[in-house]
Order: sequence, then C-alpha cells, then structure tokens
Amino acid sequence: MSSYGNPTMTEHTKVDFGAERVDGETASTPGPTVLEKAAPRSERMASNKIECNACPVLCQISEGRTGACDRYANAQGRLIRVDPVVFLSRAAASSDTGESSTNATVAFGASSEAHDSAQAEEALFVTGVGASSTYPDYKPAPFIVASKLGDVDMITVVTEGIFSYCSFKVKIDTDRFLGPEQSNVRCQGEIVGHVTTAEYGSQMLSLGGVHHLTGGSKKEGRVTCDMMLALGNKQAVELSIDGGANLVIRAGAAPIVDGVEEQRMRVGCGSATIGIFAKQWFGHADEVVVVDDHITGVLTEHQAGRCLGMTRSGVKIRGRKSTPGRYFQVANPGTGWGGTDIQDPLAIVEGFDPAVAKPGMRLLMVSTTGEHAQWYELDQHLVPRIAAMPDAVRRTVERIGENCEPSLATVLFLGGAGGSLRAGATENPVLLTRAIKQKLVNVTCGGAPAYVWPGGGITVMVDVSRMPDRSFGTVPTPAIVAPIEFTMTYGAYRDLGGHLDAVRSLESVLANGPEHTEGAPLARRTLARHADNPWPPAMPPMLG
Ligand code: SF4
Repeated sequence: MSSYGNPTMTEHTKVDFGAERVDGETASTPGPTVLEKAAPRSERMASNKIECNACPVLCQISEGRTGACDRYANAQGRLIRVDPVVFLSRAAASSDTGESSTNATVAFGASSEAHDSAQAEEALFVTGVGASSTYPDYKPAPFIVASKLGDVDMITVVTEGIFSYCSFKVKIDTDRFLGPEQSNVRCQGEIVGHVTTAEYGSQMLSLGGVHHLTGGSKKEGRVTCDMMLALGNKQAVELSIDGGANLVIRAGAAPIVDGVEEQRMRVGCGSATIGIFAKQWFGHADEVVVVDDHITGVLTEHQAGRCLGMTRSGVKIRGRKSTPGRYFQVANPGTGWGGTDIQDPLAIVEGFDPAVAKPGMRLLMVSTTGEHAQWYELDQHLVPRIAAMPDAVRRTVERIGENCEPSLATVLFLGGAGGSLRAGATENPVLLTRAIKQKLVNVTCGGAPAYVWPGGGITVMVDVSRMPDRSFGTVPTPAIVAPIEFTMTYGAYRDLGGHLDAVRSLESVLANGPEHTEGAPLARRTLARHADNPWPPAMPPMLG
C-alpha cells in the first residue's frame, strides 16, 4: 500500500465479502443505489466513519484507516484515493531498458508546471493509474482533460475501471511440454486458468477470468484475484499444471520450468530448421535429423535436401510420416530434446536401410534450439557411434543457438470496458463504443496502446510490460482494477455526447487535482513514457 496522504493508514477496514455487496461490475445482480453524496447505508454507522462508494463493497472506513482494498482511506473525515495518480512525460525513458524514470510524488498545485500550461499540455499525459473511479460510473470520469496536439484540441477521458470480465493471456517461449491442452492451471492449489492452444515456439496459458473470480468458491476467487494482481504488476507467480510442469512466470522475464530457467526460444520447427540450415550442412554431413515434438525434420528426405541433390541416407525414423522429410509424433511431449521426452536422440531412430546406408556415414542429430546436439558415424554394422563433431558442423549448431531469441514470458491483460465505465465518458455510451470502432478514439491503458477487439463491446488487450509498474489493483468483490484512457479530438468528444462541462485544462488539473474531491487522489507522480509506447494523443488515427 502506498503511504502517501497519511502514513499511519496501515490498517484496513474489515468487511464481510459474503454479503450482498460483492457484485462486480458485470454481475447479474443490480448494483447498489448510489447517491450523489454517498449516504450511510446503515443508521448504525459510527459518526467517525465514512462510506467509500468506489466499488460495490461500500466500505465504512474509520478515521485514519484504509478500505478493504487499501486504495481509499479516511483522512480526517475525508475520503481520499491513497495512491498518487500517474502522469507520463512525453520524453521517453531510455530505449535500452524501456524503464520509466520517476520523479517524486507531489501534491496537486505544488508544481511550477501549473504555471506553464502551454508547455505542459504538450508534454504531460494523465493516466488512469491511481485516478480513482466510482461504481457504477454515475459521475463523469475523474479526469477529462483538454490538451493540444499541435493546433488540434484533444480530450482524454481518464479513469480506473473495475473489471470482472478480464483475464491474462500468457505466452511462454519454450518448446518444452508444460501440460496437456485444456489442463487446469493452479495457484496455491486453486484452479486459476487453463492451458490453451500452443503457438509457434510458445506455450500459451489463459489465466483468471470471471468464472474463476466469481464462479467458484470464495478461496478460488481470492487466489485468482491475487494471482492476477501480481501478474499484471509484473511480479512473479508460481503455477502448476495438472499433468504437467511447475512454473514461475513474470512478465518480461525468462520462464522457469520445473526449476530450470528457460534460455532459448526454438529457431523454428524441425522442418523449418532443415530449410534454414540445409545449405550450411551440405558437404559436412550425410544426414541431419532435427528432433522436434511438432515436426521432426530429416534432411536427405526433405525438399531442402532434394533441392541440393542429396541422396537418401536410409535412416528410418519412428513416428508418423507427414510429407517427405517431415515426421509427427516421434516421441511423447516432454522436457527433453526438442520438446520431446527423449534424452537419447537415437530413441527415435528405428535403424538404417542396409540397401542404402553405408559404413562411415556421418549423422548429425540436433534439437530446434541447438541446446542438444550429437555427431555420429555409422560403423561397419550400420550402428551409429558417437564421434567428435567437426568444427564446421559445430558452427552450424552454434548458429541455431544464435538464431534463437531469448525465452520470455509475456503477459497481456484482456478486459471488457463496455459496461458502465462508459458513462464516465458520455451520457450516451454506445456512441463511445461506435467511435472506438470507427477509430476516432485511441484507447490506452496506463498510456500503453491497447488493441481493441473487433465485434461488439470494448474488449481491450494490452501488454502489461508497457504499462507503469503497479498499474493494477483489486477490489474484494473480487475484481481487477485497471487504468484506461480514451483520447480523441474535442470535436469527436462533443459528437459522442461527452461531458463537456467536466472538461478541464491540464493547467487546472495540475493546480487543483481531479474534478471530484470525494475519493480523489491528492497527489501525482510523473513517469517517463515507456520507450516502446507512442505518445498517446499522437497515435494513429489522430495523425490521419
Ligand atoms: S474501492 Fe476499496 S475502499 Fe472503496 S468500497 Fe471498494 S474495497 Fe472498499
């Protein structure tokens, strides 16, 4: 928890999350009636408590304490957002690291930037991180900020969304077997997701989601929510897959599979590897077998070898032949050679055709990452014997390794922003949805570009590694809190029924803070824009 605002606020309010207050943003039960000025829900609420209405839990917070999510507090009888709101500077962080430098947290009105509006409007972007929100969004978003892009008047609507319908898609660059497709993924023993369709060189997980957050036991929902919070905030999480591996994953870091840190993402499947390196092997080896759980490649049978005029070696490979030089299912999936379960590559060789193979024939067996490689020569009985690998061949193995990219775990947040959140931007929410689909509005999350899925709703997907640290929060309904910003021209905002009376200049925001005082952040902190992120107001289609 941030200690900003009141460092003594380290105790949070205890609430009964089993009561009727636990409906999320998209739950079927109607949310509570919310008054313009929140009135105590209980006549018995002590006079020194105030009610937070930023989520359906409606904490009654004693003076000097925080609410159940640690995001809101009672500061001398006033409800405040504990964390500072994050601004981005147009100047990017170092492109070497992509990391954002940070300046100190300052109270609104305390900076000289407030007196240099023209420069600030071009140079600062208000993100939804720490911005605060209400539930449902019965008031205009906390920040509806006017700025300039050259001569164009721009508007950015800034808020924090409460997401029940949300998940994380995790791409793990490895050819190792992590678990059967559709298997449950667990955290602390609770089911928090599943293994989904493998992609090229990567295993994929789908984690979180409304069914685990709210459709199971309270413990499942709590563990899922905590896991999602950690994953979104770029922290490591430990997972286990039923019938598969134990994992430690962190956004932007190498995955750890069964205690071993992954190093390389495969250069391609076995067939692709044959295609890439065939010429480099020609003249140095009589046969090359690239062991791969997906497609094991055999050079002399493969089209690449035929094009080079290579003659068959007579090697017989186990598994199901797909097309010439390409074999499926040579072994079981595993963590051995090429994502199979084999430790000895000869386990996939049935033998050699004596009518074709010859003593002295030279055979390279190699994996798709080059991490495994063995050189053989056939003896007089056509049995492969391990021999010293020639330098020219070793260089090709090293080149396979050189062409492998570093293995990473990448984490994308996927959330649905098509609900009441839109009411913070416009009195006619479908117009915001349409304007986004018409590419009149740029959607960002913490300043990071968000992909908006086609079709209905506002379903956004964003790479968490491009968002500021600690962008995500939770509420105990349980649901995830994530920043979201909508940027468009003033004209587009006017046309979609925006809350024009709530538009404020950046100068006013810097000097006075957000529009609403109740539940508002008291301070701000400015981070350098992530080096990979475009300046949000200048993203296409704004340039067009
Ligand atoms: S936002 Fe946090 S403090 Fe406010 S009601 Fe919800 S859990 Fe309680």
